[in-house]
Amino acid sequence: MKVLFASRSESAEDWLPRLRAALPGDEFIERGDADVALVADPPPGTLEKLGGAKLIQSLWMGVENLVADPALPRHVPLARLVDPGMVAAMSEMVLAHVLDWHRHLYLYRYHQGNVTWRQLEQKLASDRTVGILGLGTLGTDAARKLVALGFNVVGYSRRPKDIAGVRRVTDLQLFFEQTEALVCLLPLTPQTRGILNAENLKSLRQGGCVINLARGGHVVSADLIAALDSGHLAHAYLDVFECEPLPADDPLWRHPSVTLTPHVAALTEPRTAVPVVVENIERVRRGKAPLHLVDREAGY
Ligand code: NAP
Repeated sequence: MKVLFASRSESAEDWLPRLRAALPGDEFIERGDADVALVADPPPGTLEKLGGAKLIQSLWMGVENLVADPALPRHVPLARLVDPGMVAAMSEMVLAHVLDWHRHLYLYRYHQGNVTWRQLEQKLASDRTVGILGLGTLGTDAARKLVALGFNVVGYSRRPKDIAGVRRVTDLQLFFEQTEALVCLLPLTPQTRGILNAENLKSLRQGGCVINLARGGHVVSADLIAALDSGHLAHAYLDVFECEPLPADDPLWRHPSVTLTPHVAALTEPRTAVPVVVENIERVRRGKAPLHLVDREAGY
């Protein structure tokens, strides 16, 4: 089979040797038409040529840009990447931020800067409620690990979920009202854009935090800054932004109640992703349905 690798962001040097080793009988190309296309931020003009492909395989978990691209052939199946290395990395980032807020580490860093010795009240994990927006691949893994640490965990998703120890709240308002530490792991769709707005943030419990590791478009930045400035929220942990790299004059860079990372919560990890991609190529070869197909209507 002819397999196209088309990405302006993922490194061909990282991917192609591993793919060639796993699929020695296949031909790998970097432009033109193909049976299977592996894409992430593909160069302009790539998608238009894929009308004859049997599968377009994203090399990223989030596919909002591909789904919104008018050049994406509608009749070709689109699969997103579900990479176990990324899932593990994302849960580590969730746990790191939840624990930073829960154990007041962001405040102790501030006190250290002012040479202040001040012991804050110790809370138990069972005193805290973490709310996870999106109980998909990433949200489910993070939820399980938070439950294992003893946190109360509530979750919000479109469809029912059965995750031991996690209570799914179907009313968004009630979900926010119960949540102290909010973790956003939703896909970006027209329904989820701007979900972290003034109205919902004000429903979070006093002294809570926002951890957005999904997409910048989920947050209304001015509303989040207002919720931090008023003291209603204690801290925000942000990995993703509407405009990336975040412009140097963005107030989030210097806000004392914001911890920023440059979209690194979970990077695609070719070592763990290649076997998943290979499985889908083999499925195409055998005429079987690929895994992790995107629902174009739902947008994720
Ligand atoms: P997923 O498996 O598709 O799960 C998405 C979850 O969101 C599902 O539980 C889904 O509900 C829920 N959902 C979608 N639309 C909803 C709506 N309108 N209302 C309520 N719930 C809704 O996605 P994933 O693999 O966990 O990834 C989530 C996102 O993380 C990706 O789309 C990507 O943008 C982001 N991400 C970020 C990084 C990073 O480094 N920062 C890395 C990887 C991924 P159902 O279960 O009912 O379908």
